[in-house]
Amino acid sequence: MIDFTAVADCAAARHRLHARRPKRHARTCDASGKHRFRDHREAIEALHRAGNSRKCASERGVASPRREVRSYLCKSCHGWHLTSQGQRR
Ligand SMILES: [Zn+2]
Repeated sequence: MIDFTAVADCAAARHRLHARRPKRHARTCDASGKHRFRDHREAIEALHRAGNSRKCASERGVASPRREVRSYLCKSCHGWHLTSQGQRR
């Protein structure tokens, strides 16, 4: 004999799970906690802003907190991140 109560419970649990689905386009990466850029172009634009901020700061003789020099494609979130680590030669 089939237990219909168990089947109904299972369907309800599935429905709850479905409703609790995380947002598809999070602005931060779960793996690195870094800001996530949608595409390469967006990452490069942010990189240029960081570069400008660095340049302005050095002209005024102050240190800029912006150290980002390179963008890379993240394997975990498939978004783009900025890093202060230069490419290895
Ligand atoms: Zn990521």
